[in-house]
Amino acid sequence: MKIARIDVFQADLPYPGGGYRLSGGRVYESFDATVVRVETACGIEGWGESTPFGPNYIAAHARGVRAGIEEIAPHLLGLDPRHVDRLNDAMDRALTGHAHTKAPIDVACWDIFGKAAHMPVCALLGGSTGYRMPVVSSIYAGDPEDMRARVDAHRAQAYRGHSVKIGASDAEGGPRLDAERITAALADAQAGEYFIADANGGLSVEHALRMLGMLPSGLDFVLEAPCATWRETVALRQRCTVPVILDELATGDASIAQIVADDAAEGISLKISKAGGLTHGRRQRDICLAAGLTMSVQDTVGSEIAFAAIVHLGQTVPQHALSGILDTRGMTEISLAGFDAPVQEGGVMAPDKPGLGIEPDLEALGEPVASYS
Ligand SMILES: [Mg+2]
Repeated sequence: MKIARIDVFQADLPYPGGGYRLSGGRVYESFDATVVRVETACGIEGWGESTPFGPNYIAAHARGVRAGIEEIAPHLLGLDPRHVDRLNDAMDRALTGHAHTKAPIDVACWDIFGKAAHMPVCALLGGSTGYRMPVVSSIYAGDPEDMRARVDAHRAQAYRGHSVKIGASDAEGGPRLDAERITAALADAQAGEYFIADANGGLSVEHALRMLGMLPSGLDFVLEAPCATWRETVALRQRCTVPVILDELATGDASIAQIVADDAAEGISLKISKAGGLTHGRRQRDICLAAGLTMSVQDTVGSEIAFAAIVHLGQTVPQHALSGILDTRGMTEISLAGFDAPVQEGGVMAPDKPGLGIEPDLEALGEPVASYS
C-alpha cells in the first residue's frame, strides 16, 4: 500500500461564544483549521486535522501548518501509510520539529490503517476500554458569576469535567479575581465532577501563591499550566500542595519524560496536534501510564475530525488514568464532518467503524488549497 496523493483543505471555525478569553489578554474569535486528506494508490482515503488555538497559544500557527505540509508532503509519496513510525521518521527527516504540521498527516494515515484493517483506530491503538469517557468543558475567563452559570449550562449538557480559565492581569483584578473565579466555578460542584483551573501559563509564582492563599479550604481542583516556564512551575510545586497538570510545557515525548524525571506534575493535557499525532500521542499515553501520571486527551481546538482522533486515543486510556476528553465540537459553530459519538449517559464512546469513523463534509471543506501527487 502506497501514499499516492495528499490534499490540503482550509476552513475557518468561528467560536460560538463571540470571543474566547484566556490569560495574557488573549482573545480568539475564530480558529483557522487545516484538514488533510491522504489517498493511497488503491483508493483508500484517510483524514486528519490540525487547528491551532490562535498563533500565541503554543508554538503553532495555522499558516505554518500548511507551509510545513508543503515541506513534508513530497517526501511521503510512495510510503506505506500503515507503517506509522516509519512515516514519522520520514516526516522528521523532511522537517525538524513542528509537531502540529505533522499531526494531520499522521492521523490520516491511522485512518487509512483502520480502514485497510477493517478496524476502528482505537482497536489498533490497543483496544477500547469499553467505557464512556467523561467530557470536559472549556470555560473562558470572565466574570465569576458568569463563569459559574456557564459551568452550570455545560453540567446540564452532561459535561462531567470543567476547565476553568484563569490568569487575570492586575488591571483586571489580579489574584483576587482568579480566586473568585475558581470559588464561583466550584460553588455548585457535584459528586464525581472534575475541576481544572487552567492559567495557560499566565501566572507568576507570586500571583499563584497569593491566589491559592485567598481560596476557601476544601475546594477540589487541579491547577493546570500555572506558569510559563519550567523553573517557575517547579518552584511553585515546592510551595503548594495543589495538584499540578502540565499542558503548554508538556509538548514532545522528551518533555513528558522530563516531567517524570523532575516530578514536575501529577498529569498532562495530551493534545493530539501538540504531540504530533496519534503515533506520538500513543507514546505519551504509555509514558504517563508507566509513570502513574493522569491525562486528559484533547486537542488545541478543532472540528469533528480533530475530535475523532481525541476519542480514539482517549478510548484506549484506562479509566483510572483518564480525567476526561475535551469535546472540541462545543468550541466551533461549523461542522466539517459527520461523527456518530454523542455525549450520552455522562460520556462519549468511539464508534465501532473502520478508521476514525468520520464522514467528511466535502461541501463544507470546499476545494483543496494545495495538492501533492
Ligand atoms: Mg490547558
